[in-house]
Amino acid sequence: MATQHVRASELAGRDFDVVVVGAGFAGLYMLHRLRSFGFATVVIESADDVGGTWYWNRYPGARCDIESIDYSYSFDSELETEWQWSERYATQPEILRYLGHVADKHDLRRDIRFSTRVESATWDDASSRWHVRTDRGDELRCRFYVMATGCLSLPKTPDIPGFDRFRGETYFTGRWPHEGVDFSGQRVAVIGTGSSGIQSIPLIAQQAAELTVFQRTPNYSRPAYNGPVPAAKKATFDADPAAYRAAARLSLAGVPRERTLVRTFSVSAEERLAKFEEAYASGDLLALSTTFADLGADRAANETVCEFMRDKVRSIVRDPATAEALCPQGHFYGTKRPCIDTNYYETFNLSHVRLVDLRKEPIRTITETGIDTATRSFAFDAIVFATGFDAMTGPIVAVDVRGRNGESLAKKWAEGPKTYLGLMTAGFPNFFMITGPGSPSVLSNMVVSIEQHVDWVTACLDHMRTERLDVVEPTPVAEAGWLQHVNDCADITLYPTANSWYMGANVPGKPRVFLPYVGGVDRYRKTCDEVVNRGYLGFTFDGPGGGRCTDGVVNRLQLDVWTMLDLMQELGLPPIETLSVDHARAFSTMLASDRPPGPEVGDIVDGELPGPAGPLPYRRYRPPTRGPHPIVVYFHGGGWVLGGLDSDDPFCRDLCVKANAVVVSVNYRHAPEARFPAAADDGFAAVRWVAANAETLGGVPGRLAVCGWSAGGNIAAVVCQMARDAGGPRIAGQVLVTPVTDQDLTRASYVANGEGYVLTTALMRWFWDHYADPADRLQPKASPLRAKDLSGLPPALVVTCEFDPLRDEGAAYAEALARAGVDARHLGCRGQIHTSVPAVDVIRSAASAREEIGAALRGFFDAAGGQGQRGTMRATDEASPST
Ligand code: FAD
Ligand code: NAP
Repeated sequence: MATQHVRASELAGRDFDVVVVGAGFAGLYMLHRLRSFGFATVVIESADDVGGTWYWNRYPGARCDIESIDYSYSFDSELETEWQWSERYATQPEILRYLGHVADKHDLRRDIRFSTRVESATWDDASSRWHVRTDRGDELRCRFYVMATGCLSLPKTPDIPGFDRFRGETYFTGRWPHEGVDFSGQRVAVIGTGSSGIQSIPLIAQQAAELTVFQRTPNYSRPAYNGPVPAAKKATFDADPAAYRAAARLSLAGVPRERTLVRTFSVSAEERLAKFEEAYASGDLLALSTTFADLGADRAANETVCEFMRDKVRSIVRDPATAEALCPQGHFYGTKRPCIDTNYYETFNLSHVRLVDLRKEPIRTITETGIDTATRSFAFDAIVFATGFDAMTGPIVAVDVRGRNGESLAKKWAEGPKTYLGLMTAGFPNFFMITGPGSPSVLSNMVVSIEQHVDWVTACLDHMRTERLDVVEPTPVAEAGWLQHVNDCADITLYPTANSWYMGANVPGKPRVFLPYVGGVDRYRKTCDEVVNRGYLGFTFDGPGGGRCTDGVVNRLQLDVWTMLDLMQELGLPPIETLSVDHARAFSTMLASDRPPGPEVGDIVDGELPGPAGPLPYRRYRPPTRGPHPIVVYFHGGGWVLGGLDSDDPFCRDLCVKANAVVVSVNYRHAPEARFPAAADDGFAAVRWVAANAETLGGVPGRLAVCGWSAGGNIAAVVCQMARDAGGPRIAGQVLVTPVTDQDLTRASYVANGEGYVLTTALMRWFWDHYADPADRLQPKASPLRAKDLSGLPPALVVTCEFDPLRDEGAAYAEALARAGVDARHLGCRGQIHTSVPAVDVIRSAASAREEIGAALRGFFDAAGGQGQRGTMRATDEASPST
């Protein structure tokens, strides 16, 4: 195909609406879209033709690993019928032909300047223009500068000593010669066993006389079962391509697929294996990692897939030592991009193929004739570097991008990229990135993500034109909030545990931060739409149409909380306050029935203790460590109406392990059968009894704390006041988790969070109505915040959640305690709701809060013998998620 170049004379000094860098999937669609909106656009591309990834990566075996039906444009409905893929996973030449076809069909090449590299782009504030310089010496001006430079377009600079010494042929999978390579009769080395290595090794082995594979990290790979496009898939697609594409856009990874809710250990080992086998046999890259809901976050769950995959390797590779060396160890499945292959492991059964395990004998140097490891010397005719890319940020900072006041982008990103939505970065006006860091990008079917970004950017430019706005830029507040959200999301997954290119770990000196956005294509798309619908939240605009900015942070809920709320909404659960008390109790028991059990403890014993109106059931949890232990008396949540010994069981186990304490969970009497002050009186009686029977319970006398969640937090706070007034028992500390401290339902946190976050204002009113008469509610035994004197109370940790109606009364109690001279600490949990903290192994983003609670209890016990710090209120940085 003859390539037409935009001539230099047509570019020099010209002023465009938009300059786009890159002519891969992203640049081509960007050009088409901008053109259709009437923006004068030029694309600059360093290659001499279109294709991007599929232009450069011509190594043997190169093909997509997302099925071609999915890995293709959706913007042109004619393409769906006029282009038919010959294979389920098309080869590189076929994908390149497809992109060439799209370029021809839409006459795109006439606006692409090929064989030209952009070297710098500088923002000029005075003219509100970007000045873009190329390696051909031309300088262009434009209002908008778009980098469609790809996430995997800059091969990693070789980081092996002696690289330049080799006198044979060297090849890079990411820069493969167009004429192809014939390895017949040659002794060939391949360094690297990522996707490129795994695809090319079986084919290189077919030609080479000897093939030696240098493997640093074994990867998880399974058969692609490539072949013709599966008939069933094609039929589904052909039946309604538009619906199929719509489902892809609102899916987790850009391929239509249901999200499962089933947890790994909620099924039997046999059922688990059957599911893994089914996923394995599907040849679908995404199938295995989405088999169970918790595989991406739970170490033990993920380990079951890892072992399944290792067994597969052992079953294919005949030499046991080679098989073991090929078994991935040390990183969880999916934390580095897994591969699908054709005959990869089988290749190691060939007599002329050998594996060198670099974990046992690292490469010392490349020599003139081959490769020296720590123990051996190898001679080769050719070395293939399948060593990967400086991913995501590399191609962007390779251009000297300068924003306002000459600020360098490379400098701004020295500690890791900072973007808003992966689309823009503050201080660099009118600069857009397609699939930039902080967007789903490489964790998705990239064509879907590319189209979404291109559509969003074009709509933004169109909006600006309509509104007569010249300049757009994200605000620092929005950008910082997004970075926080991206990191919070990653931190509840296993991704950050691996030395992957997602983490920048493959490039020496690159900062270790998680680069893509793990929240999913669907949520991300909704977020971008929400930003627009809220008046371009977090963007500032300027121009003849007037300056404007709706500043703020999008997605302030933690990802797992958001997921849970979505699920509850989908299920259409009835509001509890519309049910009878019996139904409400049965309903909340049902909701709790399928949750993870929480950690193992030493033992659990149920018993009864004497209460003021008869025996009260209790459950005692003992830690697995040797006792005796301090004791925590725990009061469950449920608005004084719901709950029992089972309702907070996982949280009690967690407390027991984290505080290394005996936990005695007390089932106090509930309303409306036993109204105020029954629960408080029961709570106090229980604490007295536990204090008096500490030794029998496995506890250390005098080392007793109280803890409660929600209404249980109310009881714990009240019990501390009652114990003080009664002169005992001595309580070492109180942990109040999102406690009820006052009957006022008009506080700002009620106004902001009274609907939509599980605990609603209506439900809280229902609880109060069942528990106490309006006059009684004002008593400190119901509203401990109203006590006249809060001095002399035990040290406290008060935990509040950002999206909880009870947030402000919790904070007010912590402040009031401190004012009264109590050593009180307030832990605010960012992005959490009322039910987050006790949701062990469900709301993983609250794990750090649970850690802090355990640590606080241990601290109370340690200090129990001495004089605690008094009269200070320490507000802790909001708890952030941790794994
Ligand atoms: P690219 O295709 O990388 O195009 C960027 C272009 O920008 C390049 O042509 C480059 O030359 C040009 N460029 C960069 N910097 C400059 C500069 N300074 N001046 C001028 N030009 C510049 N993703 C999937 O979703 N599914 C898959 O199956 C899949 N398979 C892949 C296989 C391989 C071998 C690789 C490497 C990646 C694969 N990917 C896959 C990711 C793939 O990169 C994207 O799917 C997609 O092709 C990216 O398109 P793009 O236009 O954003 O970037
Ligand atoms: P990669 O996944 O980063 O793999 C690079 C390999 O080289 C790794 O095994 C790495 O080992 C090894 N390596 C790097 N530097 C080394 C050194 N100095 N010494 C020894 N070994 C070294 O790169 P890739 O295979 O090119 O794939 C990159 C991404 O492109 C993929 O993850 C995927 O997203 C995409 N891709 C997709 C396909 C597809 O199937 N469609 C094909 C190719 C690429 P360590 O792991 O120890 O760092």
